[in-house]
This record gives sequence, C-alpha cells and structure tokens, in this order.
Amino acid sequence: TCEDDAVRQIRQSRKLHDVRYDVRGPILVEAQRLEAEGHRILKLNIGNPAPFGFEAPEAILADMHHHLHEAQGYSDSRGIYPARTAVAQYYQQQGLRDAVVDDVFIGNGVSELISMVLQAFVDDGNEILVPAPDYPLWTGAVTLSGGVPVHYECDEADGWNPDLADVEAKITEHTQALVIINPNNPTGAVYSKEVVEGLVDIARRHELVVFSDEIYEKILFEDAVHHHAALAAGDDVLCLTFSGLSKAYRVCGYRAGWVLISGPQEVATDFIEGLTLIANMRMCANVPAQHAIQTALGGYQSIEELIVPGGRFYEQSMLADRMLNEIPGVTSVRPRGALYCFPRLDPEVYPIEDDEAFVIELLRAKKILVTHGTGFNWVRPDHFRLVTLPDVAVLEEAIGRIGDFLAGRRS
Ligand code: PLP
Repeated sequence: TCEDDAVRQIRQSRKLHDVRYDVRGPILVEAQRLEAEGHRILKLNIGNPAPFGFEAPEAILADMHHHLHEAQGYSDSRGIYPARTAVAQYYQQQGLRDAVVDDVFIGNGVSELISMVLQAFVDDGNEILVPAPDYPLWTGAVTLSGGVPVHYECDEADGWNPDLADVEAKITEHTQALVIINPNNPTGAVYSKEVVEGLVDIARRHELVVFSDEIYEKILFEDAVHHHAALAAGDDVLCLTFSGLSKAYRVCGYRAGWVLISGPQEVATDFIEGLTLIANMRMCANVPAQHAIQTALGGYQSIEELIVPGGRFYEQSMLADRMLNEIPGVTSVRPRGALYCFPRLDPEVYPIEDDEAFVIELLRAKKILVTHGTGFNWVRPDHFRLVTLPDVAVLEEAIGRIGDFLAGRRS
C-alpha cells in the first residue's frame, strides 16, 4: 500500500514542541529567500553590532591574537583563571566584596550559560517567572529544560517597569526562580533601585533564586540612568548574574559570557555541582575568546563614547524613538538603555491579528526585517522590535519606509 511505501519521517523531539525563537525563525527564512532572489534586505531583527560598522576595542583583538597559540587546548570547564578572576574583580568593584574565582563560570556567550543553568536547575513542572515581553531565549530554554515559563507583565504605561503585583500574583507552590532582564531587551527599560529591590524582595520572601540577565548593563543613555545589579539588593538571596562581551564590547561572534553566583551558596552546593557537571560535559567555552575577557574588563571602556550625546548608540536610539513616535498611531517608550525600540501600533489604527504575518508583509513590501512583538512573548499582536544599530542615515531611511508602509494600512 501507499502507506508501506511512505518514507519514515525523522521528527524533531517532542521536547521542542513548545519551544520558539522567532527572531531567527520564519521571518528570517523569508528574508533569506528574498535575498536569494536578489533583494537587499535591511536586517533589523538581531542586536549584532558588527555588521553595522561597530568595531571591538583593538586591545581585545590583539589579546586574542597574542594567545592563539596557547589557546589550542581545552581549558578548565569553568573557564581560564585570568578571565574568571577578572569577572570576580569586576563584581568586587561593584561592591560584592567576597566575589571569588570559584563563583564564576565562563561560557560561549550568555546564551549557552542560560541553557546550562536551566538544565542544571529546573525539574519537570517547575515554574520560572519570566518577564513579558522577554528576550525569548529565556522562555524557550525554560521550556526545553522541562519547566513552565510563567510570564509576569511589564507595564508599558509605566515605562515598561515590571508590575510587581503581577509578579507576586503569579507565584505558586511550583515557582522556583525569577528572571530579571535589566536593561531590558526588547523594551530598553532600565529599572530603578526601588524596582530591582522590589523584585529581589519578592524572591527573598518566596525563596526564589534570581536569574539576572544584565548583558546591557553598560548601555545606558541618560546621565540620570544607572544600572542597579540585582546582586546588590541583598546577599541573602541566591542570585546568578549573567553578562558578557557581546554588546558592550561589540564581539557577539566571539561568544564570550559569564555567570557569577552570589548569595548564600552554602544552600546551593548541590545545584553548583550539577552546573559543574553540565559545564564539564561540554568541555569548555571557546578558549581564544576567553582571553579577551580580562583585557575587556580591565581596559579603557570605549562603550562610554557610544552612549553619550554625539555617540552612535545614543544618537541612533534617540532618532529612532523620535521618528517612530511621529508616525500616526505609533507610540514608543523611549529606551533608556540597550539597542532596541519596542513601539506599539494602536489597534484602532492598525488592526493586526497576526503580527508575524504583519512583519512578513512589511519585509516583502519595504525590504526591512523587524521582529514581531509576540516573538518576545508579548501578550497582544500590537508591537514590533526595531534594532537601532544602523547609522542615522540608514535608520532615517528605514523608519521612513516603515512609516510609508503603515500609511497604507491605516484603518
Ligand atoms: N540576553 C539578552 C537579554 C540578549 O539580548 C542577548 C542577545 O541578544 C543574550 C542574552 C545573548 O547574548 P550572548 O551573545 O552573550 O549569547
């Protein structure tokens, strides 16, 4: 019969059924198809500075180059000693007096460490509080590790601050951890000391572990905006702080990140053993890139030139924010940090049912790729995220084209 002849299909594992990572999903496949047809696509879907003319500090390249010869072998699975010391010292300087080398794991970017930590931590059915909107790796990695991502709402009307009452309301007997993304991707929000303390206080009262993704900690746009590390909000809460070189040092491709464990580690020895096992199983992070970490953290912080008026990150973010808000029916909360705008399309003006389809229509019509808001686990199909990395001339042209596209869709 026909059925007997059918070729057996090799299927993806069931573990992946509810896992999504839309920033590189069908929207990118469509962009690549258009490129193959000969179209030039402006890709504003990923926060990757290098293709937009950003260069890493020269010292980072020089240091990697210098160490290439000795970086041929595997390293300690937790990372090379100088990199781990540099990370520990970095947090000592931020006031975490007791940070030591053993508190630090180096990974192939924050991405790998998020997956490793969740694999080591989550039991089937554990609930992990994740912001909505979020950087979607968090939701996807919680699901893949057998957990249940439970989204707490960030309030657009309140500068995208987490709604602390909602965080608290979402806690059940299964809740094990609270994810904080600050500065936030995709919203650009940077939380005040009170907000960070409020979140950590919830974790304290409900005995949750804090996972704090602080990869944009150095990308802050106003003098009045300061980054408040979750680990500073209380040494009685177990906190895992994630950061790395991808954004502030513009070397996404080198894959260099770290996680630092702080707080009452004596209650976490078993978990840390598990994390070490997972680290051992993947041998180690890319060793040449590990050599860049000490140089990056210890040297001149060239990022500071980019985030002040006149600097590219600053000027581009402000221009994007201004232009988006000038489009009728579009409102965008001004980003206070990171590399994105997350504008809202008023549903009365732009009745959108499927925001991914909307993004694909924009792509086909205007050859610009943005990411739909539901791709960040936002609850309604009324947002998109724009990466603010192109220089002002390109950005102006791109947002102009988005405005033209929207003009044709107003109801
Ligand atoms: N966390 C957030 C909030 C991000 O936006 C990103 C990348 O865009 C990552 C983690 C991953 O960074 P890495 O390059 O270190 O894997």
